[in-house]
Amino acid sequence: MPRFVFITGGVVSSLGKGLASASLGSLLQARGYKVRLRKLDPYLNVDPGTMSPTQHGEVFVTDDGAETDLDLGHYERFTGVHAKKSDNVTTGKIYSDVLARERRGDYLGATIQVIPHVTNAIKEFVVSDLTDEDFVLCEIGGTVGDIESLPFLEAIRQLGNELGRDKSCFLHVTLLPYIAVADELKTKPTQHSVKELQSVGIQPDILLCRTPFDIPAEQRAKIGQFCNVRPEAVINGRDADSIYHVPLMYHQEGLDMEICRHFDLPLNEPDLTVWRTIGDAVLNPEGEVNIAVVGKYTSLLDSYKSLAEALTHGGLNNHVKVNMNWIDSEEFETAENPMLLLEDADAVLVPGGFGHRGSEGKIKAITIAREKQIPFLGICFGMQMAVLEAARNLAGMPQAGSTEFGETELPLVGLMREWSRGYEVETRSYSDDLGGTMRLGAYDCVMEDDSLAAQLYQSLSVQERHRHRYEVNINYRDELEACGLHFSGLSPDGLLPEIVERRDHPFFIAVQFHPELKSKPFDPHPLFSGFVEAAVTRSRLV
Ligand code: GLN
Repeated sequence: MPRFVFITGGVVSSLGKGLASASLGSLLQARGYKVRLRKLDPYLNVDPGTMSPTQHGEVFVTDDGAETDLDLGHYERFTGVHAKKSDNVTTGKIYSDVLARERRGDYLGATIQVIPHVTNAIKEFVVSDLTDEDFVLCEIGGTVGDIESLPFLEAIRQLGNELGRDKSCFLHVTLLPYIAVADELKTKPTQHSVKELQSVGIQPDILLCRTPFDIPAEQRAKIGQFCNVRPEAVINGRDADSIYHVPLMYHQEGLDMEICRHFDLPLNEPDLTVWRTIGDAVLNPEGEVNIAVVGKYTSLLDSYKSLAEALTHGGLNNHVKVNMNWIDSEEFETAENPMLLLEDADAVLVPGGFGHRGSEGKIKAITIAREKQIPFLGICFGMQMAVLEAARNLAGMPQAGSTEFGETELPLVGLMREWSRGYEVETRSYSDDLGGTMRLGAYDCVMEDDSLAAQLYQSLSVQERHRHRYEVNINYRDELEACGLHFSGLSPDGLLPEIVERRDHPFFIAVQFHPELKSKPFDPHPLFSGFVEAAVTRSRLV
């Protein structure tokens, strides 16, 4: 059985619990341990797939096709361990499983209750699908004290008991607010939050206190005393300039050391060369580029989390800082001279998206990028719009549209009702539910060998993650290729366009999948590295 670290949060939300978990995962890896990270989310949606990105942030997709919380993206980016369906669960999923079992009669006439039936289902989830991991880091979403998280807290309390102290550890992330008039960091909210945890039977072993300043020794002693934690286990969680400095900072503050101490493991120095290199690269760019991201969910930047990180990684690979200019695509529809919106852009990216609103603006931005030879990367919806742009403006099909927007005379982008995944056929229909019914997860793509795509990937085939309902109709390939839009990557059966590109342009490529989901700071995604490189080249020209 691996060791379990349960990570809870208190006082307020948005304390960076996900990043703390991801950073701890990377620190334990640097000590040679095999880690797995999981997240338990207390909301009632079965998964975040149907939630608006402007409410909940990006929906992260795993290779095995789970639509998950964006924290799983942090976990992957910091540890390189690919998350699975079995790494994220919500209250909604737990309840729907319990209720399905009840309907099947699995409970043999018992009265179904939160304790033990729901808590047992949570515990089963936490310990399921593990092999030879040394550590499982299990983050509980929400804030201690929320009604929703109670069954999860009860489940991890029980697990802590069952596993024993040598196999479980409770890490609580809190906030020490700074009160200017008193010139002091205040410990009271942390004390209350720990009390709240204790009232459900959990005594935290380690406190990670988010703070704008170093915690003075006497405050640390006070927190330790009131919260029943050794002062050394009260960790300074200072704000970082970049998320990629967090592993080093938390290491310096002793987070991984305290975990090792708790489990009686060797306290040797971990090898953090990778994080030092990344940290230095973030601090010392040799230049900068401006990338315009023309999207729809620009009001909450968390809705493009992986995208922003992937662009940053592309910047690291090219030794430049990437300035992202988030532009609401509707501005392209109303602006008198939309060209001005891209005046400073060294490159243009049209990301994934849903629905008609703003789509014409995206098409307009793509026209400008194509005509003005500005490097362009289209992702998912961005590829669908790039294909519509070429069809309407170059291939003489002004009526080309997507069935996502309703009935259209010329459905260049439409709902695929059947496609293959390996040897299996997957089917969908117009009457399907919205949740969990898109083309989801990793699919193969085969590339033409003289393509920009193959050159960037340095390979003729790749597996990338998908999350979309509609597909570009392959039957229009000849017309589009005749006007310069090459279908350079296809599904292995040749039916689903995966990559399109132009050869009469310095860098114009659009993909049906989401490359940003697989980019890591220590392994930047080739499409993003190539895209930022093209932006650098352009910035030197103009
Ligand atoms: N709305 C489009 C579709 O469902 C694209 C989705 C996306 O960009 N993720 O096909």
